[in-house]
Amino acid sequence: MLDHAAPTATRTAALDRLKAFLPHAGRDYADLRNYDLPEEGHPHVSRLSPYLRHRLITETEVLEATLNRHSAQAVEKFIQEVCWRTYWKGWLELRPTVWAAYRKGLDRALAEADGDLAARIAAAESGETEIDAFNAWARELVETGYMHNHARMWFASIWVFTLRLPWEVGADFFLRHLLDGDPASNTLGWRWVAGLQTQGKHYIARSSNISKYTRGRHNPEWRLNTQAEPLKGGPHPDRRDPPGGRLPEPGLRTGVLITEEDLSPGYALDLLDRPSVGHAALISVSGRSPRAVSPLVTEFTHAAVEDCLNRHAGRLGPRGPVTEDVDTVLAWATDLALEQVVTPYAPVGPAATRLRQLEKALGDTGITLARPIRDWDAAAWPHATHGFFRFKENIPDLIAPLA
Ligand SMILES: Cc1cc2nc3c(=O)[nH]c(=O)nc-3n(C[C@H](O)[C@H](O)[C@H](O)COP(=O)(O)OP(=O)(O)OC[C@H]3O[C@@H](n4cnc5c(N)ncnc54)[C@H](O)[C@@H]3O)c2cc1C
Repeated sequence: MLDHAAPTATRTAALDRLKAFLPHAGRDYADLRNYDLPEEGHPHVSRLSPYLRHRLITETEVLEATLNRHSAQAVEKFIQEVCWRTYWKGWLELRPTVWAAYRKGLDRALAEADGDLAARIAAAESGETEIDAFNAWARELVETGYMHNHARMWFASIWVFTLRLPWEVGADFFLRHLLDGDPASNTLGWRWVAGLQTQGKHYIARSSNISKYTRGRHNPEWRLNTQAEPLKGGPHPDRRDPPGGRLPEPGLRTGVLITEEDLSPGYALDLLDRPSVGHAALISVSGRSPRAVSPLVTEFTHAAVEDCLNRHAGRLGPRGPVTEDVDTVLAWATDLALEQVVTPYAPVGPAATRLRQLEKALGDTGITLARPIRDWDAAAWPHATHGFFRFKENIPDLIAPLA
């Protein structure tokens, strides 16, 4: 039986999940994490991703708790996986045009989907292909908002190389339905499978591997295309400098803006020299896709934002709008006669796009938008220059202060 209960979108639930997982973060995780066992509730992975994605709990908190319980050596694999998230965020932060190119490619692919292609995409998304395992993963994703990492790799590989569907539409299907749907991890995960990220190296799903890691739940009789060539794309764009963010200025009349990118804003509030005169939330969940985003995702995101506002109520000042509309935030800031709005730095994606529009509109009325960056991101992102193997060399230094 699949667990259809949506995870509770609170920090308390995130901490409970972390506590339950910690005893398993060592040997269990290293040996068993690749097994896709939805009927058992995916017992060998943490399922922390929706919480980490919105920073209801942060990477550093997860790593710190893990290192408090185990030696770094015992949990090396788990630490590396958490750091994959940081790496992908940093990689995209240094090359933001890859996100814009993905969105353009998606618009093009959707516009060009003719009758037959549109029907094949619809069949894949509703789990009505001839590949039973693929159908089961599609349904699990739509019904629960989660898919195991190994299943994401198999699913994306079959989508691209066996079903021959546009990768951008598959990535969009994930972003519309994953509770952890993330512009960096998702776009770059799909690009990696397709052979566009580590150029010329793609991930090919094989029936024997699926059968082994689903413990025979799927005994594929269908044929997967294991001979496909990687997709071809252009070279990676030039890197920009790591973002510097912008610290709040002292002495200004300040309001706080929350986005779903960082629901642990304490570090930014600590930088204020005076109480906030009010707060608002700018949500960008509909901006994750040009198509409709799943109600599960929308509800989880809104509930997570509410949890953040409630937890920090004492430090945020009077409540303003919680909205997807930039103009509504602009009106809130001008009504309060703010001189400065402070928001935790939002990495590349729909929230950053909306913040750019807001920054311009605020600037026209003389209000500044401060976007301080977390120490973890500022320390890690500059190392996302090449592949993960080079990034990984920096992990001991990055986690040293946490142990
Ligand atoms: C095609 C594809 C698309 C993906 N899309 C997303 C996405 O939209 N959002 C997302 O958070 N992850 C994505 N991933 C990465 C990974 O599948 C999920 O983070 C993981 O399955 C979440 O489950 P968990 O919390 O139980 O992971 P665990 O194995 O318990 O790992 C702990 C945490 O480490 C991070 N992590 C683990 N593996 C990865 C990885 N390969 N890449 C990046 N971070 C990782 C996650 O934050 C995760 O919560 C994608 C992977 C692929 C192959």
